[in-house]
Amino acid sequence: MKLEILNPHGFCAGVKSALEKARRLAISGERIYCLHEIVHNEIVVAELKNRGFVFVEDLSEVPEGATVLFSAHGVSPAVRREAQARGLKIEDATCPFVARVHKAAADFHADGLQVVVIGKPSHAEVKGIMGEAPDAIVISTLEDADRLTFPDGDFRKVGVVSQTTMNADDVAEIVARLSNRFEIESIAEVCNATKERQDVVKAFDGDALLVLGSANSSNTRRLSEVARCRSFRAGSIDEIKAIDFSGVDRLGITSGASTPESFFQSALEFLRSCYGDQL
Ligand code: SF4
Repeated sequence: MKLEILNPHGFCAGVKSALEKARRLAISGERIYCLHEIVHNEIVVAELKNRGFVFVEDLSEVPEGATVLFSAHGVSPAVRREAQARGLKIEDATCPFVARVHKAAADFHADGLQVVVIGKPSHAEVKGIMGEAPDAIVISTLEDADRLTFPDGDFRKVGVVSQTTMNADDVAEIVARLSNRFEIESIAEVCNATKERQDVVKAFDGDALLVLGSANSSNTRRLSEVARCRSFRAGSIDEIKAIDFSGVDRLGITSGASTPESFFQSALEFLRSCYGDQL
């Protein structure tokens, strides 16, 4: 089996910056509470737990006066206000691309537009963006776009934003579909890192693609989805061992934007030990 490394892969600028911030904070020796996983990768989370971080799902779990770190996915203004009101020391690892989406949603709302967020309603990034516009509506598919009606029945101009790690082609199609039905203003697009990685995957014409990353990583799952060949996802060596590579002569390998290069190299080493060094 020939292995082909796809580039770019792995950490994006937003993840690198969030991790640098977390590692700097860890040097103080103070216990840091991170609201949600800093990025969606279990290896990264385990590393930070080893450095003394505590991961919480709700601000109420952070003791008075403690330091709270907001993850790369961002938080809603209400969460920010609550942290301030409780006197927590706030550190913020929100990716600038996510912050840009927050600002656009807030601006659209302030201008009286109906905000539509293209994304997965359960994702932390989408929950944070929704907090910028109380009447925002989340849609995920073309069907959602076709079914979209406004709660009050009135026609309003629509302001469209997107979760940064969606399928870039889906977002473009949904925006086009919305623009056929409504007057829209849109900044809906995935971030550059997501787009670059998806473009490389779509251009790969081998037999199968292995995407390294955690199951709860949105950008990792999208890479697997946009592949034009069979695709597998694995977040650990055990998960790679469980994959049946039979019939694969050319295997492409990439990794999600939150997957450490150390795991990528370990995975390569493991695959070489199984299939020989044909890179
Ligand atoms: S995937 Fe994009 S939005 Fe998410 S952290 Fe990386 S650069 Fe930022």
